[in-house]
Amino acid sequence: MLRTHYSQDVDTKDYGSTVTVAGWIEDIRNLGGIAFLILRDRTGKIQVTVIKKETPELFKELVSLSRETVVSITGLCQENTQVMNNWEILPQQAHILSLAESPLPLGVIDKVGADFDTTLDNRFIDLRKKENQSIFAIRDAFLTATHHFLHSQGFLEIHTPKITTTSPEGGTEVFSLQYFDRKAYLVQSPQLYKQIMMATGFDRVYEIAWYFRAEEHDTSRHLNESTAIDLEMAFIDNEEDIMKMAEDLTQYIMIYLTTQRKSDMDILATSPEIPQTPFTRITYDEALDLIQKKTDMTWGDDFGTLEERLIGETLQETFYFITQYPLETKPFYSMPNGKYARSFDLSYQGVEIASGAQRIHQHDLLQKRMAHMAMDIDNFSEYLKAFRYGMPPHGGFGLGIERFLMELLQVGNIRKCILFPRDRTRLTP
Ligand code: ATP
Ligand code: MG
Repeated sequence: MLRTHYSQDVDTKDYGSTVTVAGWIEDIRNLGGIAFLILRDRTGKIQVTVIKKETPELFKELVSLSRETVVSITGLCQENTQVMNNWEILPQQAHILSLAESPLPLGVIDKVGADFDTTLDNRFIDLRKKENQSIFAIRDAFLTATHHFLHSQGFLEIHTPKITTTSPEGGTEVFSLQYFDRKAYLVQSPQLYKQIMMATGFDRVYEIAWYFRAEEHDTSRHLNESTAIDLEMAFIDNEEDIMKMAEDLTQYIMIYLTTQRKSDMDILATSPEIPQTPFTRITYDEALDLIQKKTDMTWGDDFGTLEERLIGETLQETFYFITQYPLETKPFYSMPNGKYARSFDLSYQGVEIASGAQRIHQHDLLQKRMAHMAMDIDNFSEYLKAFRYGMPPHGGFGLGIERFLMELLQVGNIRKCILFPRDRTRLTP
């Protein structure tokens, strides 16, 4: 194995000894008699200092290399308090592992920014930038924190089918596909399966889920393929139990990220505060009252982007729940409470990041709601069957991972928080 991650693991004991390091040549500064190569890997950078009169052949070879070429370099590790890391490498030997073509389709350290589409078209290079590496280091820690927290609460991680015959989320469109001689769909969420799981005795489950949504709108906060933390828990009293889980999870994630990923947060120039629990809860009616004068929406409409922002600005809270939505704005499986649903959205800086609810667990009521919403009950027979032989009261939520990260890191576009975004026009790379 070639040695990488050297900016972290070289220490004073390596001074004076010969080491071999490998990485991408980020930059070459040739001053004539001396040249500096900046070598980069995931953990940082080091300086390779090559002196012409000491190693003329090597000097010629190294200064002629193109940026982003992958090399391994063997040389003396020497203390030098003038350079980053307090040491440099004086090379004796170099191997070119992969020569980069030039010009690059996208610069890694160029000051002039490329347009957004060019960065996404060349995502493998774009992801070499340190800000982008930090986003995905934070995303990784976000998931680690989620696994820690949910396991501490007795949840079991599950994986449910992504190819299905029914589509639960009324409002959004589905992608259809040919499944041998039948028509099938990509799931919009694991909703139906995680509810079926409540009939199995696995009373607390979660999934790092894929959502496939054929929404036509092309916004800075929607993807057509996105991921979410989706959980479901049984034997709840009502939706309050679910909100408590959502806010405790959020707080845990924020504590974990700000302690474990502080340096990445610094690179992205963000220092979020740890939210206090319980988060503020306002009902749909109260939220509508707050913004009444600034919107034309009427009772029974769902909040749009604009309304969500207005509510956020008026409330002046980082995280808050909006509860008790009008029943008709929520999917058929939401538990009714008079003309309201036992549902909630969690907002982060005026943007919805999660939706959840207590679900209907009574077979008859579920059928009634589906009939009321003019749904084809036959299509859902497999789902409904799970409610006929012992289904405990339950509820859950789905929290969008990219949405959360986009708000946390203030990156302005959700596409930056997923490796290879899929949107209305983009299906590659
Ligand atoms: P929105 O109204 O913001 O479009 P939604 O209410 O349709 O979202 P839900 O079905 O409630 O979405 O999904 C739960 C969470 O999953 C959302 O709160 C959001 O964080 C995330 N999410 C949903 N759809 C998308 C999408 N198209 N792109 C990115 N994240 C999404
Ligand atoms: Mg929602």
